[in-house]
Amino acid sequence: MRSGSRSPAGFHGAGTSRQRCRIMTEAAPVFRRLTLIGLGLIGSSLARAVRENRLADEIVACDRADILERVARLGIADHCEADPAQAVQNADAVILCVPVGAFADMAEKIAPHLAPGCILTDVGSTKQSVIRDVGPLLPPHVHFVPGHPLAGTEYSGPESGFSTLFRDRWTLLTPPPDTAEEAIEAVSALWRGCGAQVEIMEPAHHDRVLAIVSHLPHLIAFTICGTADDLADESRQQVLKFAASGFRDFTRIAASDPTMWRDIFLNNRDALLEMLARFTEDAQAMARAVRWGDEDYIVDKIERGRRIRRNLIEINQA
Ligand code: NAP
Repeated sequence: MRSGSRSPAGFHGAGTSRQRCRIMTEAAPVFRRLTLIGLGLIGSSLARAVRENRLADEIVACDRADILERVARLGIADHCEADPAQAVQNADAVILCVPVGAFADMAEKIAPHLAPGCILTDVGSTKQSVIRDVGPLLPPHVHFVPGHPLAGTEYSGPESGFSTLFRDRWTLLTPPPDTAEEAIEAVSALWRGCGAQVEIMEPAHHDRVLAIVSHLPHLIAFTICGTADDLADESRQQVLKFAASGFRDFTRIAASDPTMWRDIFLNNRDALLEMLARFTEDAQAMARAVRWGDEDYIVDKIERGRRIRRNLIEINQA
C-alpha cells in the first residue's frame, strides 16, 4: 500500500500528460473542466465540495434530464448536459458516479470522446469489476485512476448530497500498476481538497476489505428486515412499534438504494460470498454457545465487539 498524501498537482490544458501537469499552490484548482456523471448522493456531494473548495474552474453535470433539472435548481454545477459524449468534451477529468452496473455502458459511450491526457476516475464501491468493465474500453491517451470514497448515507438523489460528506473520511484509489504518477497525484489532490485522506490499495484487497466492512453488513441488514417482515401481521406490528433497540439501526442501513446495492453484491460476488461463509460459521458457533450456555464464549464475543467500537471512536471513524 502506498499513501496518497503528496503535494497537490494541477491537471490543466491540452497536450501530453507531462505538459498538462504543474505543481500548484494548495488554493489553486486541481482541474480546469471536471465532468461528473451521475448526480446522486455522491456525485452531488462532490459537486458541492469541489465548488466550495474551488477545486475545478468549471463543473459539468451529466445525468438523466429530470435529474439535471433538479441539479440546475440546486445550482451546484456550471453546465448540465444529458448526453455523456457531449458532457466529457474538453474535460481534463471525468468522474463516474453512477451505480457500478452502469459503468461498462457509460464507458462505451464516453471513451471515444475523452480528450488526450484526460483522467477518468470513479467512486464505485467495487474496484475489480470497474477495472474489468472500464479499463479495456479506454484509449491509451486516457489516464485511468479508479477510486472509492468511504463515505455515504442511506439517502439518494441530488438533494441528499452535502459538501462535507468526505471530510475526515478515507478515499481509496486502486490505479493499475502503469498509471502515470501525476494522474494519481491529481486525483489524490482533488480528494484531499474535499477533506478526505487518500490511500492507494490493490483492487482485490479493496474488494475483500469492503466485503467485510460494508457489503456484508448491508446484506445482513436487508436480510434481517426481510425476516422481520415475513413474521405474521401481529408480530410485524410489534416489531415496528418497539423497533427502538438494535432493529432500528438495521432499518437505517436497509433503507439504501436497491439498484446501487444489487450492483455492488453482483460485482463483488466472490469476496462477499467468502465473507458470508465465514460469518455463517461464526454465527453458528455463537448459536452453539447460546444452546449450551457457554457464558465465557458469549461474553468474549460481546467484549470484542465493544473493543472494536471503542477503537473506531478513538480513530474518529465512528
Ligand atoms: P444515487 O444517489 O442513486 O445516484 C446515482 C445517480 O446516477 C442518479 O442520479 C441516477 O439516476 C444516475 N443513474 C443511475 N443509473 C444510471 C444509468 N444507467 N445511466 C445514467 N445515470 C444513471 O447513488 P449514489 O449513492 O450517489 O452512488 C453512486 C455511486 O457511488 C455508486 O457507484 C456507488 O457504488 C458509489 N458509492 C456510494 C456510496 C453511498 O453510501 N451511497 C458510498 C461510496 C460510493 P436515477 O435516479 O434516475 O436512476
